Amino acid sequence: MSGLDDSVQNLIKSAQLDQIAARIASCEVCTDLCRAATNPVPGEGYPEADIMFVGEAPGAQEDREGRPFIGASGKILAEMLSSIGLTREDVYITNIVKYRPPNNRDPLPAEIKACLPYLLEQIEVIQPKLIVLLGRHAIAVFFPKLKISQAHGQAIEHTYEQAGQTRQQLCLPLYHPAAALYNGSLRSTLSEDFAQIPAILAAIDSTS
Ligand code: URA
Repeated sequence: MSGLDDSVQNLIKSAQLDQIAARIASCEVCTDLCRAATNPVPGEGYPEADIMFVGEAPGAQEDREGRPFIGASGKILAEMLSSIGLTREDVYITNIVKYRPPNNRDPLPAEIKACLPYLLEQIEVIQPKLIVLLGRHAIAVFFPKLKISQAHGQAIEHTYEQAGQTRQQLCLPLYHPAAALYNGSLRSTLSEDFAQIPAILAAIDSTS
């Protein structure tokens, strides 16, 4: 693609992501969530990112600013990105659930179900080469039977139906950065798993 095509494509995708964000902002399906939240947290980053990171749900700081992963977990995520030569601006970062669950409780199955179409639309727009699933809630949405302790760090294909088409999406289940906050050994595991990302992307490029 030429530089001009690239920037047009970027603008189109950015507008499509804005439209999804606007629908998230006016969504009132989960009244518990949207009434208690200060801001929706749709996601942010590069519309043409090769890698999309999907966490669980926004926390307090994310809720205040309407941006994903900007608190303590976000600091670890940014460090891990930097360890493989990337910044937040190179990737797209979002969550399964787009509003903060009150008191940071786990998202309810009904909330995950209600928010899932937004995530699938974001994936459809961005078409990432790799989706990194951060933590067991994000992993369970695509792979309900997978155990994080066994599956982390191994790329796995997810096959699903979207817009009447069968889609295949490569995913990488990882521990959630919050789990690595106070656990040095999980932090090392997360770091080792992150270090595999460039090779996974290179392998995708070599076959496409
Ligand atoms: N944890 C998440 O899963 N997502 C965020 O955006 C912040 C913390």
